[in-house]
Amino acid sequence: MTRRIIILGGGVAGTMVANRLAKSMEDEIYSGALEVTLIGDTDRHIYQPGFLFMAFNEGFLEQFTREEKYLLHPKINFVADGAVNIDVEGKKIITPKQSFAYDFLVIATGSYPDMDSVPGLAAGGHTFYTPEGAERLRYEMLNFQGGTIMVTIDVPHKCPVAPLEFIFMADDYYRDIGIRDKVRLKYTYPIGRVHSLEPVAKWAVKEFEKRGIEYEVFFNLEAVDPEKKIAYNMDGSEHPYDLLVAVPPHRGARVVRDAGLGDEDGFIPTDRYTLKMEGRDDVYVIGDATNLPVSKAGSTAHYEADVVVKNLISELKGLPPSHRYNGKAFCFIETGMNEATYITFNYKQPPRPVPPSEMLHWFKLSYNEMYWLSARGIL
Ligand SMILES: Cc1cc2nc3c(=O)[nH]c(=O)nc-3n(C[C@H](O)[C@H](O)[C@H](O)COP(=O)(O)OP(=O)(O)OC[C@H]3O[C@@H](n4cnc5c(N)ncnc54)[C@H](O)[C@@H]3O)c2cc1C
Repeated sequence: MTRRIIILGGGVAGTMVANRLAKSMEDEIYSGALEVTLIGDTDRHIYQPGFLFMAFNEGFLEQFTREEKYLLHPKINFVADGAVNIDVEGKKIITPKQSFAYDFLVIATGSYPDMDSVPGLAAGGHTFYTPEGAERLRYEMLNFQGGTIMVTIDVPHKCPVAPLEFIFMADDYYRDIGIRDKVRLKYTYPIGRVHSLEPVAKWAVKEFEKRGIEYEVFFNLEAVDPEKKIAYNMDGSEHPYDLLVAVPPHRGARVVRDAGLGDEDGFIPTDRYTLKMEGRDDVYVIGDATNLPVSKAGSTAHYEADVVVKNLISELKGLPPSHRYNGKAFCFIETGMNEATYITFNYKQPPRPVPPSEMLHWFKLSYNEMYWLSARGIL
């Protein structure tokens, strides 16, 4: 009898799981004992960290995009219809055209930035968290002649360090152009320090003070007046800006919310070690789709994929799933246009940023290219 694995979502997490599983179980797939199906909602696979570089005119969408079918092992069934329902009781995924039964399901539907969730933000603000947003921001940044650039952040969001990278890169960008003295950079954060990870917050504040970047904590964007160019904090204070760059509230995928599987923001309650959906032994959740207290990052998805694939193989062979995810994440942090640092941490060990260097910046740029090997399950 053929066992069927469905992976829902063809982003970082879903693609890595599908490829690693197919490689590890090639014999079973070729003999017909195993079927691996990846259900996505688009033919394209976009490397999202590229958006940051697009905003600074350091790259274009084409170089960060591949066709999903060419990234996948040839024996993976790829369907790009988009799921409209996840029926965990009936053990099937429903798309507008078909229904797919599964023995095991891996949900990897990610998260998305919701610019419409704050009144006035879509009209009055910019974001580098979407391809269209990054493209629009490229022109704003290039044409900016001076004034206040304000960054607002809602948590949790993808890549917890990307807003820091943005502000440090903006600092260098306008220094290089020669108008930094005309540009006021203002970074805000919703809690009582400038980053949710305390060691990162302490390090970042020193950098801000060294570079003349202003910062404000307990800033929760409530509304934006696009005409007057004012951002309103939840405490009632008004903040005029010339260019507003927002990391807006993030939500889990619509299909997760429609199926009633997520919390109020659409993130799926997930066991932090086994990565199984709470209450379901046959469903794994991975990447941004989980409600775990870990960074929503491609590196997190990468480390989680290791655990999910090894445990799936065990279970397909009738063994108990013995691998556990330890909360590991790794993030490069661009500290300007030519230097970077990195942090790595897990559930037990906090991060410690190392001194920035040009070499780390080149590592980050190299990973932008090497990512495609990771997605294929080679690295
Ligand atoms: C500007 C920016 C910079 C970043 N920088 C970094 C970085 O430097 N390092 C790092 O590690 N991470 C970084 N990230 C974060 C990283 O890109 C995400 O955390 C990662 O993509 C999460 O992987 P995922 O597979 O969970 O979600 P995604 O990669 O978003 O994939 C989810 C997939 O599910 C699909 N999907 C959704 N709904 C359905 C449906 N109904 N049916 C079928 N498919 C569906 C989506 O189309 C998508 O293809 C950055 C992100 C951004 C936006």
